[in-house]
Amino acid sequence: MKSYRKELWFHTNSRREFINITPQVAQCLKESGITEGLCLVNAMHITASVFINDDESGLHQDFEMWLEKLAPEKPYSQYRHNGFEDNADAHLKRTIMGREVVVAVTEGKLDLGPWEQIFYGEFDGKRRKRVLVKIIGE
Ligand code: ZN
Repeated sequence: MKSYRKELWFHTNSRREFINITPQVAQCLKESGITEGLCLVNAMHITASVFINDDESGLHQDFEMWLEKLAPEKPYSQYRHNGFEDNADAHLKRTIMGREVVVAVTEGKLDLGPWEQIFYGEFDGKRRKRVLVKIIGE
């Protein structure tokens, strides 16, 4: 069995952002030389997500509004976590949107559904953060 590991780094200009990372993950798969197996992609931070959905800007605005209704960023004082930090909302948003995805690798390609794209979801950005890509197979 072959195994491949790589960290992808992100530094967003805004606090919240969705980034389509499918091309970077596909590049990792190419580098790995693995043609049959599994590809894990996970956020390495507890205020960021990796998830799979449609690359459609209206939907991304809907996610933003929905998450703000569930866990509004402000006022910061509404959260017990925000004693020394201001990112309680980001922890909650990350939990809803998920930590990781696993994609099947078939014939050297990411075996995604027709509209599936892999996203990095940043909820407390403006600093360098990482995503782990781990691919195993043969
Ligand atoms: Zn925190």
